[in-house]
Amino acid sequence: MSSDAIPFCDLAVPGVRDLQPYQPGKPEAELAREYGVSDIVKLASNENPLGPGEAAVAAARDAVTGVHRYPEGSAHALRHAVARHHDVAPECITFGNGSNDVLDLLARAFLGPGREAVFSQHAFAVYAIATRTVGAEAVVAAANAADHPQPYGHDPEALLAGIGGQTRVLFIANPNNPTGTWLDGDTLESLIARVPREVVVVLDEAYVDYARDCTGYVDGRRWLETYPNLVITRTFSKIHGLAGLRAGYALSSPEIADLLNRARHPFNLNSVAQAAAEAALTDTDHVDRSVALNSEQREWLRARLEGLGLTVLPSAGNFLAVEVGDDAGAVNEALLRRGVIVRPIGGYGLPRFLRVTVGTAGENARFVEALGEALSGERA
Ligand code: PMP
Repeated sequence: MSSDAIPFCDLAVPGVRDLQPYQPGKPEAELAREYGVSDIVKLASNENPLGPGEAAVAAARDAVTGVHRYPEGSAHALRHAVARHHDVAPECITFGNGSNDVLDLLARAFLGPGREAVFSQHAFAVYAIATRTVGAEAVVAAANAADHPQPYGHDPEALLAGIGGQTRVLFIANPNNPTGTWLDGDTLESLIARVPREVVVVLDEAYVDYARDCTGYVDGRRWLETYPNLVITRTFSKIHGLAGLRAGYALSSPEIADLLNRARHPFNLNSVAQAAAEAALTDTDHVDRSVALNSEQREWLRARLEGLGLTVLPSAGNFLAVEVGDDAGAVNEALLRRGVIVRPIGGYGLPRFLRVTVGTAGENARFVEALGEALSGERA
């Protein structure tokens, strides 16, 4: 029987039927195939331009020889390393196949039909996917206005107003992707303090390390004991340069971690990722080098983009959202023809913007040159 005859879409659960698939950054190989270009610069997925550190690569290499064995489901060594690193008990940690997996676990544990999750407009796309997949309602709070000091960023009052009797989860990305905007420590803590205790506050700190030098930014670990409904998510994909291995985790009360671990697939964190992540955690040289490069190049890039007369949103991440105008799609196309991949963010409700990851000095210079040409309409 031909599959056209079967109404699979009607058969799917309503939450999945209405979803838009996540749009990842275009892979380099795909651009090479489609446009016939080489010497590609990919600044589309907020990856670490320095790659993984040497210690992580060596640990991954060693671990590969043991992949005929299932990984250790409890990730014992990594669990203790993360516990030491954050000075929390090992029972407070839940590992995920990337932090996306942890976001999904949170939705599976606390959401479902008849329940609601609240998050901001222009927030990370996976919140909507995780929420709707389990049949829960996504309540999208209005973001800050364009003339706010944190334009298009999270508005605490709007988030609180979105919380109702059925709300079980509030997602907050700090810094937020794709805007780069952030909430300062006082504002964030007073927001968390006003959330009813029955609502799990998910503080997504995927970009925490890049925010070190940003005015007022503080990481949320200090609030874990005060607010038992707080869950902090972290990833090895960004500062540690391990996006391809997929490793992330949550810090929470032991009670929440226990629930998440019940919903977790037993081998969701593979053995190579466990080994590499453990090595990466203590490679402070690599982390510091990555932070320093990002801070320097983020400012270089901002200055160049503003020099082109463009508006750039404030960013505490390893990326910048830049307003290129009504023709953002055409500008993106022109960049692709020049071998430069960035991320259009129309799907995030910011159709006039492109998001560019902060790369190496050479990559950023290539991007700025290509963007200058694209904006002046030169043919590639
Ligand atoms: N949170 C935010 C805000 C992100 O931007 C990303 C990655 N794009 C993630 C979580 C997920 O990262 P990973 O699954 O690679 O840990």
